[in-house]
Amino acid sequence: MARLTTKGLQPGMSFGGKPVIERMDIAAACSRLSPLTFHLVMAKYCDDVHSALEAMTELQAVMAKKSAVWAEMGVLKRTAVAAAMIQEFVSARKCGSCKGTGQVKRGTKIEDCRPCSATGAKTISASARARACGIPESTFRHQRLNERYNDIMDLLARAEIGALESISRKAS
Ligand SMILES: [Zn+2]
Repeated sequence: MARLTTKGLQPGMSFGGKPVIERMDIAAACSRLSPLTFHLVMAKYCDDVHSALEAMTELQAVMAKKSAVWAEMGVLKRTAVAAAMIQEFVSARKCGSCKGTGQVKRGTKIEDCRPCSATGAKTISASARARACGIPESTFRHQRLNERYNDIMDLLARAEIGALESISRKAS
């Protein structure tokens, strides 16, 4: 879990378009958000390891509701997958092609960046995810786990956007 805290971010520092958020702003604004969202944001922006662990527990309940594949997976395996998801969420990197903007200049035109599908986020390959989960790549592909993994990552991204909006409203 130590890796969760090593993002090279200084408290209060703006990095890669991430808003500068103070711990108290988050605590105040997130008190009405779901426990999962609260812990996700605390883990990502405050390097809170306790929250990372809480998020892993909360996330598994969400995963189980979202797909039978996750629900029927053994606890140890599902915990490893949830840990990989939280790790990926917390250490999200910017796309190398567009530097996180989601757009690239082609000639005189501005176009959506293809490698990241205009999300600005560095995409993680299915094999890298399989490795992070400790699941054989063949199993990962066979059970179409990457699609289901993507569903969860989308859900986390939406929760994060909602939380950040609510935090910036509170802070302004
Ligand atoms: Zn890109």
